[in-house]
Amino acid sequence: MNLKQFYKKDYSTRLSLLSTQLNLTSDELTLIANQRSQQGDAIIENYLMDYSVPEGIAVNFLINGQEKIMPMVTEEPSVIAAASNGAKMMHMGKGILVQTTPRLMMGQVLLANVSNSSKLSAQLTQNEAQILRVANEAHPSIVKRGGGAKKIRVRQLDNQFVSLDVYIDTKEAMGANMINTMLEAVANYLHIELGQSSLMAILSNLADECVATATCRIPFERLTSRTLDGKQVAQQIVLASQAAQVDPYRAATHNKGIMNGVDAVVLASGNDWRSIESAAHAYAVKDGQYRGLSQWKIQENDLVGSLTLPLPVGFVGGSIKINSQAQLNHKLLQVGSAAQLEEAIVSVGLAQNLAALKALVTEGIQRGHMHLQAKSLLLGVGATQAELESAQKELEMAPQMDEQTAIRILKRIRTRRN
Ligand code: NDP
Repeated sequence: MNLKQFYKKDYSTRLSLLSTQLNLTSDELTLIANQRSQQGDAIIENYLMDYSVPEGIAVNFLINGQEKIMPMVTEEPSVIAAASNGAKMMHMGKGILVQTTPRLMMGQVLLANVSNSSKLSAQLTQNEAQILRVANEAHPSIVKRGGGAKKIRVRQLDNQFVSLDVYIDTKEAMGANMINTMLEAVANYLHIELGQSSLMAILSNLADECVATATCRIPFERLTSRTLDGKQVAQQIVLASQAAQVDPYRAATHNKGIMNGVDAVVLASGNDWRSIESAAHAYAVKDGQYRGLSQWKIQENDLVGSLTLPLPVGFVGGSIKINSQAQLNHKLLQVGSAAQLEEAIVSVGLAQNLAALKALVTEGIQRGHMHLQAKSLLLGVGATQAELESAQKELEMAPQMDEQTAIRILKRIRTRRN
């Protein structure tokens, strides 16, 4: 394929290059045209079209005494239903209580091939005031907003690496770009003043000084299932929580369930979900073993849950300003700051986790998934909206729920109709 200097071409030239070389049909070109937006070209390089993911609303949240809804962007069936279900169980009493730490992001100037790491570490520590000054002078506007570089930490990683960690208050922004600007200035300063060159200067996504904790307390009677009483369900959930503490294989899936909710709200809020994913998983292994991020225990007649997550999200910055849907979602979330956004996100993570664990230790996860799974399968094999209702009923009752069965059911319905 010849796409030389693709990035230099204008939109229509790029499209016609693709069209000729990949034989795009007129239907495919119409699809691209319909999905093209004004903003795309301004946000990313080599823009082609918007790729849409459904957004829905999870309900029943009571967070720090305030009723909330959650706009969630996800392609996975059952995520929103599970979040609403988890939030409903947690709604009693005080609902979900959330605490956030003061928000400090961390960036590192990584120094390599260090000949005397103890000496260098001491020099860096002695130079803290100058390092903070250099960082702040590189981005004075954040200092004017009351933020900026606040402290440093020096870590000798091994014989050849020293990490200079700079902690920065980025106020309402996630801060990647401002942190990187400040760190590059610090790296330059170290080169000139200490003769120490750096390998790289960039923020760390392990934002363990920007953390939110959600807790909840659920009376046993709210947990009753078809076959178990509430206390039994609570005991099973506690066991599931313990399993995720001791087995990384289980912990990975436990945490994936949490991130089903977290990512969906992060995405809806216009934030960088990759940074939240990497922060969460790095945090899950902070003591050397990968563990479940949430924990559940029994206290008196209640199931008590807690979830702590690093949540370096922004209320401003990145593409939020030009993404009107992200701004609308901030309104739906009723948040006016990055800290309030953290509160919403960690709450949805805990709700999602509760719903998943309850389903897993009672009726199994598939039962809840079946309804939407049937719908997805049928739409995937070409069912129309008119055919959907009856086809879905038949597919849910079929001994197997798979693509072949969906095709057979659809054929049967169409024959009956004709
Ligand atoms: P921006 O570069 O957009 O910076 C934030 C902007 O918001 C600044 O221009 C700042 O203005 C403005 N602002 C307005 N009000 C406030 C306020 N109250 N507090 C703070 N800032 C305010 O975004 P970020 O620096 O937050 O960077 C986020 C982006 O970086 C994300 O899109 C992410 O994908 C990307 N990124 C992520 C990386 C990673 O995770 N490893 C690496 C590199 C990039 P002013 O300048 O006047 O202060």
